[in-house]
Amino acid sequence: MNAISSGLERFAGRKLGVATSHAKEQVIGPLLKQALGLSGYSAIADMDTDRFGAFSGEVQRTLDPLAACEAKARHGAEVSGFDLVIASEGSFGPYPPAPFLSCDEEFLVLFDALDGRTFHHRHVSLETVFDGEACTDWTQANAFAQRMKFPSHHLVVRPLEKWKQGDTQFKGLQDKDAFRNAVEGLLEHRGSCWVETDMRAMANPTRMRVIADTAVRFADELTTTCPVCQECWFRITHPLAGLPCELCGWPTASTRAYLHTCWACAHAETRSRPDGKRFEEPQHCGNCNP
Ligand SMILES: [Zn+2]
Ligand SMILES: [Zn+2]
Repeated sequence: MNAISSGLERFAGRKLGVATSHAKEQVIGPLLKQALGLSGYSAIADMDTDRFGAFSGEVQRTLDPLAACEAKARHGAEVSGFDLVIASEGSFGPYPPAPFLSCDEEFLVLFDALDGRTFHHRHVSLETVFDGEACTDWTQANAFAQRMKFPSHHLVVRPLEKWKQGDTQFKGLQDKDAFRNAVEGLLEHRGSCWVETDMRAMANPTRMRVIADTAVRFADELTTTCPVCQECWFRITHPLAGLPCELCGWPTASTRAYLHTCWACAHAETRSRPDGKRFEEPQHCGNCNP
């Protein structure tokens, strides 16, 4: 094993493998190359990332998203020989604090095979184009497609919401005629079909933007160094509530600061919000607006 440099020197001049079969290296690669001083990056060819769980249901994901993402990164290192590999994993569903909204939860995991260390970042965005609908005629399917920003966002068509072995499935539909043929073919045979957004990054530009944004945040976090030992990834481990109300000074439920903790020396310190916000508006105050 080669000796590992500490701090940001760990990454300098190395080449990053991006474990993706969905063109994500185009948004992740240039950004991390710049931020970490890498010599380059490239997608790991022939990575069967779908074996870790596919959106369209052929392979059920058995691990939680962070563990699945880490498994992808480690597998990428094994099959490619890259000793620095990044992987991405997204999940979509109702936003827990407001379940009528959809959200996109993205993870990035960076695996360093030289010492086996992993670094990760999680980002949740409400900016997402994600839905599915059972359709019984073309007008309904077409209206759904328009709401889902088709054709810039591609669609999946299959007989039922839940995919079964042997079912027909059309993925990555991006052409109106092909979409209509897929829908009408199933309507003719079964009377209904399931239409949903194709959530693979190259098929959903909104998701690709969220992945890019996640990579920016991850790069910021990786390059934040511990003030005591200078190690990289002096990351936020806990948000601290209690941002004071600007009218009455009462501590609100909003975040006032973040606790950063060093993974190497366990040094912890509280840092104020990066957006500089020091007070909460009274409408979010339990004292002014109970
Ligand atoms: Zn430290
Ligand atoms: Zn108040």
